[in-house]
Amino acid sequence: MAAEIRLFTCLTDNFGYLIHDPATKATASVDAPEAAPIIQALQREGWTLTDILITHHHGDHVGGVAELKQKYNCRVVAPHDKSAKIANVDLRAGQGDVVKVGSLLARVLETPGHTLDHISYVFDSEKALFAADTLFSIGCGRVFEGDYPMMWDSLLKLRVLPDDFKLYCGHEYTAANVKFALTVEPDNAALKARAEEVTRLRAANKPTVPTLLGDEKKANVFLRADEPSVAAALRMKGADAAAVFGELRERKNKS
Ligand code: ZN
Ligand code: FE
Repeated sequence: MAAEIRLFTCLTDNFGYLIHDPATKATASVDAPEAAPIIQALQREGWTLTDILITHHHGDHVGGVAELKQKYNCRVVAPHDKSAKIANVDLRAGQGDVVKVGSLLARVLETPGHTLDHISYVFDSEKALFAADTLFSIGCGRVFEGDYPMMWDSLLKLRVLPDDFKLYCGHEYTAANVKFALTVEPDNAALKARAEEVTRLRAANKPTVPTLLGDEKKANVFLRADEPSVAAALRMKGADAAAVFGELRERKNKS
């Protein structure tokens, strides 16, 4: 039986995610921005929370952990990097670890840059990538703790995943990301198609995720820093991809 995935809004623009294994009835929340909407979603489905898979230490990703742990006595999986203080942790996960949610398997990728502890969860059998604040649709996270080469390297780790994998990201930032990406690649046909789709979805108050990784590879300028045309658009012909990525990120910060 295939896993069931639910997404809903938490806080202002965070996504809450539940992934449920019908075979064992295990259910994981990927991050826990706040408890109430996660509890509501669980009750709506008649599911019990067994695991929380934390991606990084930021408050808008762990704010609901204590209350959920108290209510469900669930297992809390957190990044390997203990320098970031996360409370109530049962299991630490790093590069190459496989975390079980019932019979579902989540492969852990270390994707530092936004924070040093950031990890992403890949459910290969469900073709689902939970990338939190590393990779957004048509964007990427701000580089707070790492540096640009580190973040670019993390994006490359995600870019090698197959085109038919779905990206579930941490925030609904897609409209602003599209606006910025169009300033760099106004003639990118995949990006223009995505822009139209995003306008339509947001007008209908619908989420813009999940999105296909194959589409992101074509339309997300932050995954395209090693395309000669992107370097040329920034007047950085021949520059190192990590440097092009850094320039993109700095321009986005100022936009
Ligand atoms: Zn964050
Ligand atoms: Fe966040």
